[in-house]
Amino acid sequence: VPALSLQKVGRSYDQAGFSLDILRGADFQLWGGQSVALIAPSGAGKSTLLHVAGLLEKPDAGEVYVGGFATVDMADDERTALRRNEIGFVYQFHHLLPEFSAIENIMLPQMIAGYSKREAGERAAQLLEYLGLAARGKHRPAELSGGEQQRVAIARAVANGPGVLLADEPTGNLDPKTANHVFEALDAIVRATGLATLIATHNMELASRMDRRVTLQDGLVVELD
Ligand code: ADP
Ligand code: ADP
Repeated sequence: VPALSLQKVGRSYDQAGFSLDILRGADFQLWGGQSVALIAPSGAGKSTLLHVAGLLEKPDAGEVYVGGFATVDMADDERTALRRNEIGFVYQFHHLLPEFSAIENIMLPQMIAGYSKREAGERAAQLLEYLGLAARGKHRPAELSGGEQQRVAIARAVANGPGVLLADEPTGNLDPKTANHVFEALDAIVRATGLATLIATHNMELASRMDRRVTLQDGLVVELD
């Protein structure tokens, strides 16, 4: 089964009394080990698609399957548990907790998911090592460079071993060289874990190195090239 599957997904917002149809029956499938770039102009619905795919927002129509499980009619706590176990998120800004060290930031989602402090610490240390950040574990986010912060955010997002990683402009705030470094870190983790990734990006150079490229057109997901 696909790691993530959207079937005929609809999502509208009310804006000043008007219904704005952002997704209009969108179909999309993402397989394990695949990286897909989502390229579309601002306002097209990229964040909406990522939020619906990531079980943060419910669609108004259609179904979202994560790891083969239909999620729309699930109980809220079941859906939250599935999200915590199966979905990782990375944003344009790292959203690391400022009072905690890099390693603690990576440990937290694992401890929320029920792993022991020792297991969480070992996994976090491995991820830091893997991302070339072994010497940075004790630093707080403010003491890290922008690229290091994003790599810690990636480590946090994958710490629970999700099947799907969703990223919204993860390199949007970085210079090209740092963006490339962060992308390579992400790519290495995808290759090593068989994670499925959907990355909204305006960086065409990085998009060209991913497995597939899609856009949003009239509320549908459309394959490019
Ligand atoms: P993108 O990420 O491609 O820039 P978004 O998914 O953020 O697009 O937004 C698509 C459209 O939906 C925009 O017109 C935005 O204003 C609108 N929108 C997004 N979220 C909401 C919301 N919670 N309430 C009302 N309108 C929203
Ligand atoms: P919650 O506090 O809703 O239980 P979690 O702690 O399980 O959320 O968070 C899981 C992931 O979802 C985190 O990466 C978090 O940043 C992200 N997340 C949670 N709520 C939202 C939201 N409303 N918008 C964007 N991302 C969110």
